[in-house]
Amino acid sequence: MHLHFLGGARTVTGSQYLLETARARVLIDCGMFQGSPNESVRNRVPLAYDPREVNALLLTHAHLDHCGLIPHVVREGFAGPIWATPATIELAGLVLLDSGKLQEEFAKRGDRWEKRHPDTAAKEDAEDATRYEAALDLAETGEERWPGHDDEHPDESGEHVPTSVAVAPTGARAPVAGPAGPGGHDAETALRGQPASIDVDLDEPLYTEREAAAALPLFRPVAYGEEIEVAPGVHATYADAGHILGSAIIRLRVADAPGGPERTIVFSGDLGQRDTPILRDPAILTDADFVVVESTYGGREHEPEDEAVRILGETVRLVADAGGVLLVPSFAIGRTQEVVWELDRLLSAGKIPQIPLYLDSPMARKATDIYRRHPECYDEETKALLDGGETPLDYPGAIVVNTAEQSRAIARARRPYMIVASNGMLTGGRVVGHLRNLIDDPAATILFVGYQGEGTLGAHLQAGAKTVRIDGETRAVRCRIRSISGFSAHADESELLDWVGAFVAGRKPGDPGVPRRVFVVHGDPEAQDALAPKIAALGLKPYIPVWREAVDLDVD
Ligand SMILES: [Zn+2]
Repeated sequence: MHLHFLGGARTVTGSQYLLETARARVLIDCGMFQGSPNESVRNRVPLAYDPREVNALLLTHAHLDHCGLIPHVVREGFAGPIWATPATIELAGLVLLDSGKLQEEFAKRGDRWEKRHPDTAAKEDAEDATRYEAALDLAETGEERWPGHDDEHPDESGEHVPTSVAVAPTGARAPVAGPAGPGGHDAETALRGQPASIDVDLDEPLYTEREAAAALPLFRPVAYGEEIEVAPGVHATYADAGHILGSAIIRLRVADAPGGPERTIVFSGDLGQRDTPILRDPAILTDADFVVVESTYGGREHEPEDEAVRILGETVRLVADAGGVLLVPSFAIGRTQEVVWELDRLLSAGKIPQIPLYLDSPMARKATDIYRRHPECYDEETKALLDGGETPLDYPGAIVVNTAEQSRAIARARRPYMIVASNGMLTGGRVVGHLRNLIDDPAATILFVGYQGEGTLGAHLQAGAKTVRIDGETRAVRCRIRSISGFSAHADESELLDWVGAFVAGRKPGDPGVPRRVFVVHGDPEAQDALAPKIAALGLKPYIPVWREAVDLDVD
């Protein structure tokens, strides 16, 4: 029995794990690599397996970095069921169709740009090809192990999980193009045999909107707590992850042979914070042979949620008093609904004056509709509010903006007012238009409610930049910038450790139900290196797999 780490290893994107037994192959998540070009080019690397031989795909939640490669894998031949909670199925449909559309648009824009700037384009194509080859190399050999692994790694026992880095795809599907060369049935030989410039068009969309739509009929609903057999000898149970609507922790009971010994493997998916609005807290599980845990916030703690809500209220009051504009860049799924929920609560409690709220994100509007349709995912507090006749998913009198025309018209509205618009990192979407209008307006406030990725416009503004470039134009920053760090869809370090700690609580290593290994995934290297020793201090054995590493689960 093997587990292959095909993404989300030493990085936060591209989550994908393949469980391989004597009689089944099951994928857990199938996410897209996002972010830097070195990372996103990994989406183009030939799959590590033959998708036609995969029995089933289990999806933890609808974020693109967990579901974004599904249409690609379906186009390559996967035809099995994709198991997900009903809420995840709806959200994943929204996310995947949008992703296909964006990729087509991006490819078209790229085409036009290449025609206007042929020399730069040729240079960039060459860089892309180099990145692609580097990714192929990495896929083939596995990444360098972390520095000082042998002496500093918290796994003090000195023994390592036996690994094999080359995951053998079936010969017929391995090469992207061109002859596989002699020994083409061997993955390594096939990849080594690739010519220097590979015949894969890196500028083509990874998949189209149509191809995304073609994947949707494969989805099958599974309820929380219901155990289903997803492949011969593989039983799955989904539990609340408290991350976004429908998100799940997946627990697998796996046996190589009928009646043979069983292994329990728990995949955390993305774990939410406790006590966040709308959703229940992440479920606590206590027994497993192996745990695969996310580590996004390893080494970091969130500001308390109360403090986040206090800053939100204070900012709204300041903007209202000054007759200004509040702009909240926000991700469409999860964060927007959470911010609206908190604004509605603040208003109900009389802590903020009622000023108009523009919700300017077609995607967020659709996501909110999906949130409304899934009360089975709500926590007690939200259920009680609904039972009491309140509407916590709606801010009274909120103006839902549909067309681009309506979006532009907001600039002429009577102040004060608030705008919540996508996306959360100012990397695109309607929020950019509002930013253009408000950046040099001293009566405007931009409130960041989410993490701003390194090098993004949002990160520059947070760092106090006096000028920024928007659409190639240098603009003075005269608006007020504020940030809240307490709203997060992810557990922070102490919450992660509490969750993992439940697998050993009151017991010692070697006791039944105490994991043999805790695989630390879905984190940047610094976060993983911070978290792993603390997992070891709980009496567990952490292990940080690298991309395309395979581990043997038959070890003791
Ligand atoms: Zn997520």
